Amino acid sequence: MSKEKNALIIGAGLSGLASALALKQMGWQVTLYEQAKEHKGIGAGIVLAANAMKVLDKLGVGQEVRELGAAVRSARIRDWKGNLLVELPVAEQRERYGADSYLIHRADLQQTLLAKISTQELALGKQLISFSQDEEGVQAVFADGSSTHGAILIGADGIHSHVRKKLFGEESMRYSGYTAIRGIATYQDPRYPLESGGGFEAWGRGIRFGFSHIGNNRIHWFAAINAPEGEKDGPLGRKRETLQRLDGWYEPVRAVIEATEDAAILRHDIYDRTPLSKWSEGRVTLVGDAAHPMLPNLGQGAGQGMEDALVLARCLEEFDKDPAHALRMYEELRKKRANAIVKGSRLMGAVTQWENPLAIAARHFMLKSIPARIHSRRLDWIVGHEV
Ligand SMILES: Cc1cc2nc3c(=O)[nH]c(=O)nc-3n(C[C@H](O)[C@H](O)[C@H](O)COP(=O)(O)OP(=O)(O)OC[C@H]3O[C@@H](n4cnc5c(N)ncnc54)[C@H](O)[C@@H]3O)c2cc1C
Repeated sequence: MSKEKNALIIGAGLSGLASALALKQMGWQVTLYEQAKEHKGIGAGIVLAANAMKVLDKLGVGQEVRELGAAVRSARIRDWKGNLLVELPVAEQRERYGADSYLIHRADLQQTLLAKISTQELALGKQLISFSQDEEGVQAVFADGSSTHGAILIGADGIHSHVRKKLFGEESMRYSGYTAIRGIATYQDPRYPLESGGGFEAWGRGIRFGFSHIGNNRIHWFAAINAPEGEKDGPLGRKRETLQRLDGWYEPVRAVIEATEDAAILRHDIYDRTPLSKWSEGRVTLVGDAAHPMLPNLGQGAGQGMEDALVLARCLEEFDKDPAHALRMYEELRKKRANAIVKGSRLMGAVTQWENPLAIAARHFMLKSIPARIHSRRLDWIVGHEV
């Protein structure tokens, strides 16, 4: 058995970075191997629900994230004409969970985590192409011909994970049926003052729109639009077409899109994968999207990757004489919860993207008639969880 406590982490996304921080706290030496040659500040806004904020506190970065992001102080769901369907009792949730949820620019979050990693702990331009393991440890080989050895290997390499494929074979992704169009704008609206934080979602027919403060006077917005897989932007361009799809929607839906630079609007088809029954094999395991890619409808993808990181580090600490056993314990502790959230996100997406007018009328009737407190209680097992 290898006596070294050194971990090879493949991928320096949010889950890889969180894993590095968590393992370092337990006295492990870590190296992140990232295929990209540089860290680009890309992405849009991201919600860090109370469960994710609690992990970030334990990783020692919660306060910095709070300073850079915006606390969720209101969460309303409206129909596309602006009629209120439900207002979640955010203050009561904060009281119950003992933490606020936050919204932040993904690049700010990534930079905050990256600042805790030394240059020796991050190897850029290193694309993992293969690995092998024995009783002593794991050997990783990269596309540039280099190789390295560690006691364990953590696949934090995202939804297209090479580590997952090598462990459990090729499987196809599941297209959700919708594409996400996202942007960030500097925008102010007197109905949605900055100090109120958070924002709203508006639900239409096969389209859902979200508007949230993410700090520094910026609004993150998204439109989840039912579309065939792989559909390309039409001749009008992404911004004009999105505005066309949202014609007649209440303001500030269209105004915030108008305020966004066209070139900065992102578009991605949304996928997940069928949950795995196993994440680990010997000294190799998976975290984050590599283990449990999920649709973004519950705002939990990154949060679940962070929970993975903390539980993994604790298992390695507790079973420090037997890393393979530690990885099995990690998987046992995490799998049920993460896989349930994969399923919950899929179900939530199915309901929010309905196109049938009768089904939509029933959905809105239900939202209005069930007390907001009951809607919010249904999220307790996800957002109220503390690792
Ligand atoms: C539209 C949308 C909105 C979302 N909103 C939210 C939200 O509000 N809240 C939330 O919690 N989550 C949200 N998510 C989910 C969240 O973004 C992901 O769950 C999270 O970013 C996954 O992080 P990760 O580190 O596991 O994977 P990734 O971010 O995909 O990182 C994987 C890294 O591994 C690297 N890599 C891949 N292959 C290799 C290789 N062979 N060798 C070396 N490096 C490799 C990649 O370059 C990348 O840097 C959203 C997702 C989408 C698509």
